[in-house]
Amino acid sequence: MAARSAEFKRKEPTMKKLRCHSCLKDLPAGSLKYVLEIKSFADFDGYLEEYEGNIEDGIDCLLDAMDEMDEKAIEQDVAREMIFILCKSCCDKFMNDPFQNERTVYASDDVKGTLH
Ligand SMILES: [Zn+2]
Repeated sequence: MAARSAEFKRKEPTMKKLRCHSCLKDLPAGSLKYVLEIKSFADFDGYLEEYEGNIEDGIDCLLDAMDEMDEKAIEQDVAREMIFILCKSCCDKFMNDPFQNERTVYASDDVKGTLH
């Protein structure tokens, strides 16, 4: 395969080239590229599971467990943020069908109404 030999070429020592994070296409300087920011955060719907026993013991127990957890891990449980650079066609593909499952994408306003 012709593509194989290209892998053994020495990497250029010049500045890092941008590539589409999805299709790995080179995105030369000046070309159209899109920044995709993904944020996720835990949504609380106000529902607390009924705790069997003393609720204060339960909270102490939870706090103890959190003490043992890495702070970063807790943060990631609550909110996460990712940033990707995409070419136009990958960005379009993602925006039309983020999970590639051919389901309709709802406008964000529709979804927000269902949560709060
Ligand atoms: Zn792409």
